[in-house]
Amino acid sequence: MKQDNPINKDEMANQADVSRRLFIKMAGLGGFGVLAGVAGCDGRPSGGDGWMPAQYEGRGHFPVQVRGRVPIDPLNPSICRDDQKCILCGQCAEVCDKYEAVHDHYELPLVDDIPCVHCGQCTLWCPTGAITETSGIKQMLEALDPKSGKHVLVQTAPSTRVGLGEEFGMDVGTNVEGLQVAALRALGAKTVFDTNFAADMTIYEEAFELVQRLTGKIEAPIPMFTSCCPAWVKFSEYFYPELRPNLSTAKSPMGMVAPLFKTFYAEKQNIDPKTIFSVAIMPCTAKKFEAARPEMNAAGRHHNDPDMRDTDLVLTTRELAQLIKMKGLDLHQFKATEYAKEREYDRVMSEYSGGGAIFGCTGGVMEAAARTAYHFVTGAGKDEIPELLYNFEPIRGLKGIKSAKLDVPGVGELRVAVATGLANAKELMGRVKKNLDERKVNPDVELLFHFIEVMACPGGCISGGGQPKSSLPPSDIVRTARSNALYTIDERLTLRLSHENAELLALYKAYLPEGPNGHEAHEFLHIHDGEYRDRSGNLVAKR
Ligand code: SF4
Ligand code: SF4
Ligand code: SF4
Repeated sequence: MKQDNPINKDEMANQADVSRRLFIKMAGLGGFGVLAGVAGCDGRPSGGDGWMPAQYEGRGHFPVQVRGRVPIDPLNPSICRDDQKCILCGQCAEVCDKYEAVHDHYELPLVDDIPCVHCGQCTLWCPTGAITETSGIKQMLEALDPKSGKHVLVQTAPSTRVGLGEEFGMDVGTNVEGLQVAALRALGAKTVFDTNFAADMTIYEEAFELVQRLTGKIEAPIPMFTSCCPAWVKFSEYFYPELRPNLSTAKSPMGMVAPLFKTFYAEKQNIDPKTIFSVAIMPCTAKKFEAARPEMNAAGRHHNDPDMRDTDLVLTTRELAQLIKMKGLDLHQFKATEYAKEREYDRVMSEYSGGGAIFGCTGGVMEAAARTAYHFVTGAGKDEIPELLYNFEPIRGLKGIKSAKLDVPGVGELRVAVATGLANAKELMGRVKKNLDERKVNPDVELLFHFIEVMACPGGCISGGGQPKSSLPPSDIVRTARSNALYTIDERLTLRLSHENAELLALYKAYLPEGPNGHEAHEFLHIHDGEYRDRSGNLVAKR
């Protein structure tokens, strides 16, 4: 893959247009294999002028088994392809179709769009490394250069710490939390915060919103869907726009905490917010898309600066590993005693609970939110919260769709469901929509679920599209080892409830005094009316 993109923005847009037209024209021919040819990393139609990668254009060069591949928009912010490495094996199309229900789940022709939800699962399945994340390494190196005058502030997601070590020969699922922090400092980051803190914040807001919906304190429908997975959000914008009011308005952890770096933290530390270069280390390629969504500029709105983005750059776990190796560093070296201080996160926005830690596992958001929602409804302290919620077994594990029931005094029976992989989400949504339709005819029909968690990646973020490729194809052994590492963190912590995070409560007191979903929280931490889009006009969903 080319790291440096020599094409300027206007040229890119122009070529993207050409490629889209080419794609839609080719797609009109209707052949699965014909979809094979759209654009690689450099924004050109693949192979230059034709739809086939250049290496297959000559007579007799056609590979024996052509199974097509996913089309990739030249301006896709998350993934790109090096056509020279593509063997037309069809793995990317297979995972996109079978696991994510995107490729081949819409009719042709398309309207000005090449549907993709940016999950990056195709990068994990591509056997030749032809599909990768779009690289942010050059941008990161520029920001880290002392001459840039940037204050590079980094946040690290829950799942990266149980993936990064695999790139340095460590056992699958090794927790390298401190080593990752020390490596980031050695690279030149001035501040390193833990996204786990932000995961607690998302739980705090989302659980509060759920309770408000359940008790009728806000006018918003039930079931409520989680909204922290940008691939799921975009999938629902394509295929279920009518259910957008059911999506929680709570932003993802990255989306919530990023504007607070350029407001709360900048004010506290007396840093010019314009100099902060906010970087998110994520297991996820879809976060590159999320960071670029127009509404992710709450700090810019606050400072009246339309050019200010909440998150300036997202790097995947794989990109961080690449950066560490490029600089001649090795994660192992940071185990030395001399790095003890460098292994610690910066304080004020890094404390986390076990609830925040398990955010990266399928079912983890639901488990953490259920603990806090139970507290909000009943006022229960940590010893009064049911034991089940500290090990919510029915919604743990890698099964595609899981469900559970829970009695919550004052609310009644709370029915919850968890889907992992968007094909499973599609199946679950079919059941939910049928139930809602039946209730329109007969309101006495019982509501199937009150709260639904969806994560696009099989197993959740621990198996995100930006995580190390430790097995090909991705395996449940790897997913289970990484998940277990996060559950172990939760079990070993005394603090297991998001709403008891002392740094979080201090931040609310100082900066968000009206509490969850209050005026200030709404400004920084929530999606506003109209910001979830209806993308269904761009495609016709296959039934
Ligand atoms: S998985 Fe990779 S090699 Fe196979 S068709 Fe897709 S891009 Fe090409
Ligand atoms: S990123 Fe996800 S949705 Fe996009 S092509 Fe790859 S598998 Fe499909
Ligand atoms: S499940 Fe996690 S890693 Fe995968 S797309 Fe969603 S947020 Fe990203």
